[in-house]
Amino acid sequence: MGEQNTEQRTQNIDNRCLVSVICCLYICLTVVFGITGCAKRELPAFICDMCGMDVSKSETKYKVKLSVPATDGQPEKYACSFSCANMLKENLKDKVSAIETTDYNNANFIDINTATFVAHSDVIPRGSMPPSLLAFSSRQDAEQFVKTHKGRILGLEGVKKLIAEK
Ligand SMILES: [Zn+2]
Repeated sequence: MGEQNTEQRTQNIDNRCLVSVICCLYICLTVVFGITGCAKRELPAFICDMCGMDVSKSETKYKVKLSVPATDGQPEKYACSFSCANMLKENLKDKVSAIETTDYNNANFIDINTATFVAHSDVIPRGSMPPSLLAFSSRQDAEQFVKTHKGRILGLEGVKKLIAEK
């Protein structure tokens, strides 16, 4: 009789253990999937597609416009810097219809084909991947900037060469 009770108790404990393990596993899975799921949903769209930096905090924002929406349905992608935008372009190739960046003086978006760039000035733009590269809508603005902050004035081709050399 006594032996049977002990056996029954052991079995009860075993069952309780099993239930606890299953509960723990369930909670763990819910937490893990919940966190990753949430992180994906809550990720703001304004994030550098290459390095994950917050593009809203970058002083050199890049907008990569797509002719065909990306696999995640986005019609455009963002990058924190020229280097990241360039990598993004290499990844997306002919899906890219245009790339715009912000004028350092007023933060308005301008086409990179018409922008004048200043490389290696004494200004290190915030939230941007190196090299330090600022864009201006007019060449006069860039020349004015270089007078006080030094640096090299470059067109888009010059910038591409600079990035390739790196
Ligand atoms: Zn980036």
